[in-house]
Amino acid sequence: MSLTTLKAGSFTIRGRSLGGFYTGLHIPELNALLDVGTALRTGAGSRNLFLSHAHADHVGSLPGLLGMRGLVGVPHTLRVFMPRETVEGVTKALEHLSLVHRWSLAIDVVPMEPGQVERVKGDLYVRAIKTLHPVPSLGYVFFRKIKKLREEFKSLPGSEIGRLRHSGADIFDELERLEFGYATDTLPEVLANNPELFKVKTLILECTFLDDRKSVKAARAGCHIHLDELLPLMDQFENERVVLMHFSQIYSPNDVRAIFEKRCPEHQRERFKLFVPDGEEWWD
Ligand SMILES: [Zn+2]
Ligand SMILES: [Zn+2]
Repeated sequence: MSLTTLKAGSFTIRGRSLGGFYTGLHIPELNALLDVGTALRTGAGSRNLFLSHAHADHVGSLPGLLGMRGLVGVPHTLRVFMPRETVEGVTKALEHLSLVHRWSLAIDVVPMEPGQVERVKGDLYVRAIKTLHPVPSLGYVFFRKIKKLREEFKSLPGSEIGRLRHSGADIFDELERLEFGYATDTLPEVLANNPELFKVKTLILECTFLDDRKSVKAARAGCHIHLDELLPLMDQFENERVVLMHFSQIYSPNDVRAIFEKRCPEHQRERFKLFVPDGEEWWD
C-alpha cells in the first residue's frame, strides 16, 4: 500500500508517517503539505508546505517534491513555512542541489517563530507554536478569523445592521475559529503549553511509543510522546478528531491498533484515529 487516506472531521489526511523513517501528509482542505519526509505525488501541486523541523524523516524528500512540481509544471512556487533557524541550511542545500540538478529548486520561504501568525488563504490563518525537540521545531495551529455581531447590536433589524456595516461602524467582534492543529516530534508538554491544541476541530499529534517496549524515560530522552503520558490527559481533548501518527517501527500496524484499543478508555475511542495502513505491513 502506497498511501493511507483518513477522513478526520472535515479534513482529509493522506500520506505516510513512520517515526524516524518518514512523515509526509497532504491536507487538501488546507491546500497544504505537512512535512516532506516522503514526497507525495498526490498533493505535489499544493500551494503550501509546513515543516515541523529539519530532521531527515520530515524534510529529506523536499528536493524530490520540487522535482515533481517542475516536471508537471506547477504554476506557482511552493511556499514553505519553517522554523526561522532552519531557513539558511535548507536554502543552501537547495541551492547546491539546484547546481547539480541544473534546474532551479526554488521555494518561497516563510520563516516562522512561536506565536507568529501568517495568512494562508482567504480567512484562513496559521499560528506557529513551540514544540519541544532537540533541534529548532514548530507546530502549527490553523484558524479562521470570523466576525461576530456584538451583543448590543443583536436586537437591531437586519436593515439597520446593514446600514451600520456599510457606514463602517465597529459593530463586530473578531473571533478565531480553531480548525486544525499539527504537533509532532515533541514532548507532551506542548499540549499544556498550548491548550488551544485541545480545542482545534482536528488535531494531528505524534504518539511514537505505546507501551513498555520503550520506557517513558527513553521516549522523553528522544523528545517524543509516549502513550503513558497521553492517557492521563485524555479527558482534556475536546477535539472532534485526534489523529495519532509517527508511530515507531518497533510496532506493526496491527500492534498499534491492538495496543491502543486495549489502553484507550472506551468513552474516548471514537475521538481518536490512528494513522496506520490497513493490514500488517507499514507502507514499505
Ligand atoms: Zn520524526
Ligand atoms: Zn525529529
